[in-house]
Amino acid sequence: MNDCAVNANVHREQVKACGEDAEEGGTADAEGQAPVASSPAVTATLSGIPASACRDAADTAAACERGKSRGKPGKNENAPGKGDRVSQPHGAAAPLAGKHLRRIENEMTLGLRGTGKTPRGKTEAHGSVAPHHRPKDERETRGEESAKFGKKTPVSVDTSKARASAVAIKTSVKQLKWKEFPVGRRAACDIYWHGMSFHDSESVVSGQVNKFPGMVEMLKKINLSRAVRTMQELFPEEYNFYPRAWILPDEYQQFSEQFQLVKDNDVMLKPTFIVKPDGGSQGEGIYLIRDPSDIKLTMGSQLKQAIVQEYIEKPLLIDKLKFDIRLYVLIKSLEPLEIYIGKEGLTRFCTEPYEEPSRKNISHIFMHLTNYALNVQSCHFVHSDSLNAGSKRTFSSVLYQLGSKGADIKRVWSDIISLVIKTVIAMVPELKVYYQGDIPPGKPGPTCFQILGFDILLMKNLKPVLIEVNANPSMRIEYEQEVAPGVFVNVSSPVDKEVKVGVIRDTLRLMDPSPKRQSISEQVAGAKRAGAMKESQEDEETLPSSCMKQVYPKYTKQFDYLRLLERITALFIRFLGVRGSMRLGPTAFRTFIRKCKLSNSSFSMASVDILYIDITRRQAGFVPDSRETGMGLQAFIEAFFQLAGRRYKSLALREQVVSLLEQCEAQLKSQLAVGGPAFQERRSLSCSRALTRGTRNQASGISNFQLHSPAPIRRAASQDYQLDQNLKPTRGRCGALSV
Ligand code: ADP
Repeated sequence: MNDCAVNANVHREQVKACGEDAEEGGTADAEGQAPVASSPAVTATLSGIPASACRDAADTAAACERGKSRGKPGKNENAPGKGDRVSQPHGAAAPLAGKHLRRIENEMTLGLRGTGKTPRGKTEAHGSVAPHHRPKDERETRGEESAKFGKKTPVSVDTSKARASAVAIKTSVKQLKWKEFPVGRRAACDIYWHGMSFHDSESVVSGQVNKFPGMVEMLKKINLSRAVRTMQELFPEEYNFYPRAWILPDEYQQFSEQFQLVKDNDVMLKPTFIVKPDGGSQGEGIYLIRDPSDIKLTMGSQLKQAIVQEYIEKPLLIDKLKFDIRLYVLIKSLEPLEIYIGKEGLTRFCTEPYEEPSRKNISHIFMHLTNYALNVQSCHFVHSDSLNAGSKRTFSSVLYQLGSKGADIKRVWSDIISLVIKTVIAMVPELKVYYQGDIPPGKPGPTCFQILGFDILLMKNLKPVLIEVNANPSMRIEYEQEVAPGVFVNVSSPVDKEVKVGVIRDTLRLMDPSPKRQSISEQVAGAKRAGAMKESQEDEETLPSSCMKQVYPKYTKQFDYLRLLERITALFIRFLGVRGSMRLGPTAFRTFIRKCKLSNSSFSMASVDILYIDITRRQAGFVPDSRETGMGLQAFIEAFFQLAGRRYKSLALREQVVSLLEQCEAQLKSQLAVGGPAFQERRSLSCSRALTRGTRNQASGISNFQLHSPAPIRRAASQDYQLDQNLKPTRGRCGALSV
């Protein structure tokens, strides 16, 4: 360990103590939370970039320039006027993405907007409002005020639970000229900004909360891996952006066997894997291995829940350093699904030049892990006032640099958008189950939205790889600097401010409830409303153009066929029975089989019970800390796949699943028609039926391997998809690229 690493360890304890999210543990990540050892001069600049760079790169360059001038503390707070180029801080990548995506769009006809019910109506239900939240009073006050003064009542934002994102949200609310309530208020607010989870404040029954129930659990490493793996089973090529992963300790044996198989085929091969604890964040507890026996399966006497994952050995390097990309993705609504991506993001650099893993360097965290929280402890970490230099830069500045070297950055953007949409589609089924568990139909509750942090690596061939998704991306825009031994002060970080304030502000703009409010005041205030409208327009005009770009339902046509599991989820929710429950009991599972007419002489109800017990037991091992018994969604999906395999033996897995879905849906529909409204067991969160045709088309040509093997084995086999080839950098596309 060099001096630098020793220093890092000394600082590590301080880091933990000062990071608010870090104190919370869980899956919060920590950008901008750690103290700074030193701030050496900038080590990397964009000098020497040829003037002949492509037009796209020039667009980005303009954005970088714009960014530079705004990057100085104090300059980027005031929103410039409309039409001013400086007023588009996040435009850098936008034109690049925009042009390419317009091309995609041109190939599409009008997209579907989703057909399911929206939970939005819940905000209107004030029947059992908690005493200290009185939305009706608030609404009346708002309406009366508007009527009296012909003025728009500012949107109210409760930031009392914002924690580490408090400064960024305060700045954003100020820019929007909305009203912040930093200690909360008696009356209901329009928007509640929580720092950690939906449950930060239990009493919110109206308005909008910036977290979905269950998101933290959903995005733990094991759960996300499982969700993506299920999609890989159905759509191996579409989901090859996620490295193969095994769940520990349950799949240790499988992992060892597959490892041995690879080694037997090629003795020279020395693959590296990365082990990541399930609930970990900020790189904590992560290590690389080159042999299954190096895995530490226990901590004390306890088995450790973790994933072991293929390590991307050939990432794209800039200035010889490994880096990753942090993009902010907004799920604006689950039903209908609406996804936005921030046009600007962050890139976080390692602080030790990268070498492919070897016995010598396998433990060098500053070489292999890009986490800010780790690298900021290195004496080589560079804090910079510039957006395009240092150990943390804007994504647009990196794209510009790549573009200037001839990289097809439109393609990079398009691949990233695709990765984001597909990942969210993989998450949605589980999120819907959590949602109905916390806010069952009919129960008053707020609507939800959430900003997620996507961590993405670029491989040498510029193909993006998903590393993880953070439910609570750090929104801190300042860092702590040690000005004297043991004395720390908060210093504003221009890069963080540039990116994060934009994301929060423009997310709030998207969630702005005012138009609805204006229509209420319209009834009361009549013509006076015109004044408020004008004022609102003027406010909008003084703001920069939005940095959040809608990608779904915009690209519905290309991705809707992937939303197959949501239909299985709709069945699952329908048979859950008890309100707020998230697991299916054995009787409910039998009812599902009976109602869908899935049992027959060769598949008796006794076999149904055995299937239920079998799968539920096995899946219980995957779900750490599970307090609820019964069959969860993933287990139900596995059972569904097995039932589909039994019934449609001659088809490929995807076709089997589609066929069984059609059968179940047809059965239930016919019973509904016969039984009338009384037959409706539960409100179904059903998804677009337009999937079927697309899915059928996709299904053709899929090989019919391992149809009868149990799901986990079939899963392991299906993981032999072409990831290896896909993840290995290919020559050609960017062969000439040397950054
Ligand atoms: P954490 O939640 O603790 O930050 P991550 O999954 O984000 O865990 O991993 C931490 C870091 O390790 C990433 O930022 C990335 O630099 C590196 N990393 C993670 N998975 C891989 C992988 N499969 N291949 C290469 N590097 C990886």
